[in-house]
Amino acid sequence: MEERCISSVCGSVLKILGLEVPDNIDRPNDAILEMCPRADKVVIYNPDAVAFWLYEKYRNFFEKAESNSCLALKTLSVMPSVTPVCFASMYTGLTPDEHGIKKYEKPVLKVDTIFDYLSKEGKKVAIVSTAGDSISKIFLERNIDYFIFPTKRKVNKTAFKLIAQGQYDVIVIYNGDYDAAMHAFGPERSIPLMHLKQNLKTYNDIIGLIKKSSEGKKVFYGFCPDHGCHRIDGGRGAHGLDMYEDMHVIHFYGVT
Ligand SMILES: [Zn+2]
Repeated sequence: MEERCISSVCGSVLKILGLEVPDNIDRPNDAILEMCPRADKVVIYNPDAVAFWLYEKYRNFFEKAESNSCLALKTLSVMPSVTPVCFASMYTGLTPDEHGIKKYEKPVLKVDTIFDYLSKEGKKVAIVSTAGDSISKIFLERNIDYFIFPTKRKVNKTAFKLIAQGQYDVIVIYNGDYDAAMHAFGPERSIPLMHLKQNLKTYNDIIGLIKKSSEGKKVFYGFCPDHGCHRIDGGRGAHGLDMYEDMHVIHFYGVT
């Protein structure tokens, strides 16, 4: 199967919601559309830095997430493989040259994003994320609702509440705790791996809640990290390079 780029997420979500996909953005991913041609709502969970090699090496951690999903896709990141550059591509459908964030910086994007396309069509959208992080900053100034909190605990509690209430057409949830622990201790130490397991549990909990609250509506959901990671000298972790470990992530997708 052709490996698609994280930038195909934008067009795929628009298409699934029955909206027009602009000509200038990355085309939707056929594998995703075949699995879910159409849905009423979308929930995307964005855990930071979950590399494809982690999925290959720690497959048992991912078992439930995979069985809760319909698709497990090896997905290509963009260069430089750092958070604001990657999420800008994921949610604009554009390359870094096109969207303008080409290094680790978090300006508010000037180009159209999925949040602009969705709000123009009257979709109710929520971003639920931790303060200071890329997703909380680069997509500001759109006609959507922002739920920005200092802690992951509060982010997830709010995200669960919003999913259960069913008021939003699209919910995007960000968790950066694996990334932070991976930078501090290295990708495979016990603390980062505990965070990886927590991220997978959160995804599974999100699916459980979606299934409980979907009320016959079709809800498309995804587990969509931005870039991978690798170990560096001194027992720490990093990403940002054009190397296998940084450039391939695991994405899961499913539908109720
Ligand atoms: Zn990141």
